[in-house]
Amino acid sequence: MKVTDEAAKPVELDQTAVGRLSRMDALQNQHLTQNLKEREGVRYALLHEALKRLENGTYGACSECGSEIDFDRLFVFPETPVCAACG
Ligand SMILES: [Zn+2]
Repeated sequence: MKVTDEAAKPVELDQTAVGRLSRMDALQNQHLTQNLKEREGVRYALLHEALKRLENGTYGACSECGSEIDFDRLFVFPETPVCAACG
């Protein structure tokens, strides 16, 4: 009986800890989703700008220093307006 009581204690503590962690996770996930939405909005705006640059023929040129953006960088970040040095 005594052994069972002692064994049950850490389980209770664990459940409390898990409950707290779950709430923190939920809050963190909510925060992450908000951040993601904001970032998606920023990315959409950048993509829109990139399409405009494609139309007027300035796509691929850094908007800061005017040098050509590396193809590797454009491949990973097609929406980037600046080269690796300026970004
Ligand atoms: Zn640059």
